[in-house]
Amino acid sequence: MTPLHEILLRQIARVGPISVADFMTQALLHPDHGYYTTTTPIGRGGDFVTAPEISQMFGELIGLSLAQAWLDQGSPAPFHLCEIGPGKGTLMGDILRATKSVPNFHAAMNVILIEASPTLQAVQKQTLSGVAVTWLDSVAAMPDGPMFMVANEFFDCLPIRQFRRNDTGWQEQMIGAENDAFHFVLGTQSPADLFHTRADLPTGAIIETSAAGNAIMDTLSRHIANFGGAFIALDYGDWGTHGDTFQAIKNHEKSDPLLYVGCADLTAHVDFHALGETAKAHAKISQMIPQGVLLERLGITARAQQLAAKLSGEALENHIAAHKRLTHPSEMGTLFKALAVVPHNAPLPAGFEG
Ligand code: SAH
Repeated sequence: MTPLHEILLRQIARVGPISVADFMTQALLHPDHGYYTTTTPIGRGGDFVTAPEISQMFGELIGLSLAQAWLDQGSPAPFHLCEIGPGKGTLMGDILRATKSVPNFHAAMNVILIEASPTLQAVQKQTLSGVAVTWLDSVAAMPDGPMFMVANEFFDCLPIRQFRRNDTGWQEQMIGAENDAFHFVLGTQSPADLFHTRADLPTGAIIETSAAGNAIMDTLSRHIANFGGAFIALDYGDWGTHGDTFQAIKNHEKSDPLLYVGCADLTAHVDFHALGETAKAHAKISQMIPQGVLLERLGITARAQQLAAKLSGEALENHIAAHKRLTHPSEMGTLFKALAVVPHNAPLPAGFEG
C-alpha cells in the first residue's frame, strides 16, 4: 500500500466517498506523494512518452506557428512566450531553437513556464540551462502583456468529475473504499439540474466534466482577449464527452486507475467542445483539428525529409518511425487534436486556418 493510498483511505473513512476529481488531484499533485510532484514520469525510462519526446519536429513546427502568430499581430514587444505543463522542458527547448532566426523574436520574449511540480521544474531548469526563464505555479500569476502559449498533454491530467445517467437523471460517480481497496460508488446527491440538456443519453451513460480545465481556459482566453497573443492546446480527446475515459498509465501500459495511487499517471480524454465554448466567450477559436493534419499543414513532411538527408541506419529508421508516430491515423495523428485561441481581430495561427 502506498503512503497516499493510506491517506486517501483515512480521508474516505472520515468524510465518505470522494469525487474522481479529488482523487486525481491528490494522486497527481499531493505535495509529498503525488505522481507529478515526486517522479519524472515522461520519456522512455518513465511511464509514458509525449510528442516532443518522440521527435524535435513537433516543437519546431509548433514554435514556428506561434512565431507566425506573433508576426501576424505586429511583433508586439515585449511578450510572454509560455508553456503550461512543460514536463521535461523538451518542447520549449525545440521552440526556442526553431525560432532563433525569427527577427527580434528572442529579443522581445520573456520565457514563462507554468509548472505545478517542483521536481519537474528542476528537470526543466537543466534542459533549459542558459535560458532566462520565469517559473509560475499557476495561471493566476500570469503577468499582463501579450502571451503566446502552448500546452501539450496538459489538459488531460486535470481533474475530472464523472456523472452516470440513471432512469430519471444523473448521479455523480465517486470513489469509496472497502477492505482497504478503492472502488467506484454512486453519490447520493443528484446534480440533475446541471445536466438536463443531456437527457438524450441512455441509462448507464457516463459524462465527464473538468471544472479545472474550463477555469484555466477561461483565464487564458481572457488574457489573450485583453493583451493579444495566441494559445495552442494539443491533447488526446474529442469534441464533447464520450463515456468513461478515466485511465491510468504505468510503464507504458494501461492500468487500473484505482491502483498504484501516486505511482501511475491518471488522465481523461479532453473535451475540446467544453474548452472551446469557454474560450469563445472571450476570444476567437479555431476548429478542432487532428494533430496529424496540423503537422502536415505546418510542413512536417518537408522537415522530415530535410532531417532524413543527414541520417542513416538505425537513426534513420527511428526518425521515419517518429514521423509516422506523430502523424499517422493509427498512431497519434487522429487521437490527438489541436485547438487554437486568438483575439477576435487576429488571424488564426498557421496550420489552423480553414
Ligand atoms: N507538455 C509535456 C508534459 C506533459 S505531462 C510534454 O508534452 O512532454 C503534464 C505536465 O503538466 C507535467 O509537467 C505536470 O507536472 C504538469 N501539471 C499537471 N497539473 C498541473 C497544474 N494543475 N498546473 C500546472 N502544471 C501541471
